[in-house]
Amino acid sequence: MWSTAREIAAGDTVIIWLASLFTRDLLQPLVISPGKDFNSKYGNYRHSDFIGLPFGSKVGSRTGKGFIHILRPTPELWTLALPHRTQILYIADISLIISYLDIRRGSRVIEAGTGSGSFSHSVARTIGPTGHLWSYEFHEVRAEKARSEFAQHGISEFVTLTHQNVCKDGFNLTDAADSVFLDLPAPWDAVPHAKQAMRKDRTTRICCFSPCMEQVLRTVNALNDAGFSDITMYETLVRSHDVSQVPVLQTVAEVSDRLKSAEAVREVKRLRQIAAGQRTHEPHGEKRKRGEETRGQELPPPLALAEAEDCGNGKRLRADDEMMDDTTEGDVSRSLDESATTTRAGASTPVLPAKISVSKAMFEVRGHTSYLTFATLLPPMPLAPEGAPSQGLPPSL
Ligand code: SAM
Repeated sequence: MWSTAREIAAGDTVIIWLASLFTRDLLQPLVISPGKDFNSKYGNYRHSDFIGLPFGSKVGSRTGKGFIHILRPTPELWTLALPHRTQILYIADISLIISYLDIRRGSRVIEAGTGSGSFSHSVARTIGPTGHLWSYEFHEVRAEKARSEFAQHGISEFVTLTHQNVCKDGFNLTDAADSVFLDLPAPWDAVPHAKQAMRKDRTTRICCFSPCMEQVLRTVNALNDAGFSDITMYETLVRSHDVSQVPVLQTVAEVSDRLKSAEAVREVKRLRQIAAGQRTHEPHGEKRKRGEETRGQELPPPLALAEAEDCGNGKRLRADDEMMDDTTEGDVSRSLDESATTTRAGASTPVLPAKISVSKAMFEVRGHTSYLTFATLLPPMPLAPEGAPSQGLPPSL
């Protein structure tokens, strides 16, 4: 699948990464064809100049203005760069489907429709040349285009593309596939054909990808009618996590010292704000209380403030330092380094890791693509030999 050589050669498919500081990243596929030029707003390049360069090279334009990177294709990059002929699957859904269909090296998989081939490339990498992908597409031009891309990308030996309407004519296979993936407007019409194409000597799995709940319900009915079990629907949604590494103190004693110092600094900050008249949004009672407290009380002189800001151990803590308690807002999870349980050599107190990762989940959840309906097809139960006791319920019940 694609070139595994270190250097770029004529005829290779590459992914051009047109990165800019000011715009979002752009990815574009390119077949290296000596004699041709590549022109973009990031400069002018000759394909022949790329030949012999290692994949991943950064190349400056001929005019000296602008640069590009030339990347080796992967299914993930191909999904982001491919020419769209249809809506496509993206990696969040693709990875869930591949894993829940138990697709692995050597698997025999059916896919319909092929569309732009986004899912096909990830499956092809997973199954490798010892597996097989049967891909079906009833739109002739799309089928032809996908077929030539599969050949260009070196996967056509184990990816067979058939131009066929699978809802009407099925898959021309019997007891052959370990798993089936249907990305069709009416997957329920293809479910009985899929059952015929699936192996019966082992447990097999199917997944149907549909954007609407009405389609899901029709698919679930068809799966039930065809004898599938374990029918489960998933939706992949993207939730961003803001992850950062924050330093922590090394011993329990140091942590305790620092908490005390932080309390002192907060108090100083509070008094400063009162002096500057900044605390205007406090509850009325609080304000009055503070007024009483500060009446007749002198504000700390600048030197005293500086001392209070000193952590007592020579380390200086600024009043606007983010303390750990600031991270407890929202959904915070912490993953401790492996060193969390270790003890510093010679120290009698336990040692905390030097840094921990803190992640804060963003509330916005993006990206309904489709619902993923999975189901299992179990091998038929072997028939009990004649005269053997029945395993079912006694007829009297
Ligand atoms: N999964 C693909 C990908 O990741 O690039 C996208 C598939 S696209 C959304 C759906 C494709 O199914 C279309 O190209 C359409 O022509 C094809 N299709 C629809 N009904 C079909 C049928 N009955 N038999 C075969 N292909 C069909």
